[in-house]
This record gives sequence, structure tokens and C-alpha cells, in this order.
Amino acid sequence: MSNCIFCRIIAGEIPCSKVYEDDLFLAFDDINPVAPVHVVVVPKKHIPTLMDVADDGLMQGLTDALRATARIKGIDNRGFKMVINCNKEGGQVIYHLHAHLIGGGTIDKNKI
Ligand code: 5GP
Ligand code: ZN
Repeated sequence: MSNCIFCRIIAGEIPCSKVYEDDLFLAFDDINPVAPVHVVVVPKKHIPTLMDVADDGLMQGLTDALRATARIKGIDNRGFKMVINCNKEGGQVIYHLHAHLIGGGTIDKNKI
């Protein structure tokens, strides 16, 4: 979708700090981190919210991509949070499904 920020990042139209990529997923540093490690993991396919996921395999893939990203960032054993915000009252701002990988130290819990 041309008006979706994350689709534009996936298309290379908006730069990002890439952490992990495979055929179906991309992970990049959050522009406004709430902790020392804050990465956004997105499917390359545009899916607006968690409620729109129709393929069970997609969530497995998203989790696998996030775990790979945690290993790259060196927080897989230290620990982290995986957060998915859904719709307005869930705090979702970008309507392209994504999981936040948050860790690496103090987490600003007022922001998640
Ligand atoms: P949401 O609140 O929708 O779950 O989270 C959206 C996240 O995307 C926020 O943490 C925000 O900082 C991040 N974000 C928004 N625009 C950009 C951008 O252009 N680049 C990057 N790297 N992150 C972004
Ligand atoms: Zn999108």
C-alpha cells in the first residue's frame, strides 16, 4: 500500500536500520525506541491488524523472525518483551501488522 509507512520501508522508499530480513519478514530498529533494544518486526505482506491475520503460519513466521532478531541483538537469553498493539485502544499507530521486540535494559513502561 503506497500510503503505508511500513510498506514504503519494505519497498526501500523510506530508509531504515535493518536488523533481519528473510523472504517474508523484515525487522528494523524503531525510530523512537523505548528501551536500548527496540526493533519492529513486520510481514512484507500488508496486513492491517492482528485481527486481519487469516493464515496461522504467518504468526509462526513472525515469531520465528522475532526470535532470530533477538539472537542478532544478543538478548535471546537475557530476555525481552514481544508486544503487538491492536487497533486504537490497543495503542496501534501504524496499521501494518508488526511485533515490537523490546529489551536490552530499562524499558520505559509508560510508552508501551
Ligand atoms: P504501534 O504503536 O503502531 O504499535 O507502533 C508503531 C511503531 O513504529 C512506533 O514504535 C514508532 O516509533 C515506529 N515508527 C513509526 N514510524 C517509523 C519510521 O518511519 N521508521 C521506523 N523505524 N519506525 C517507525
Ligand atoms: Zn503496509
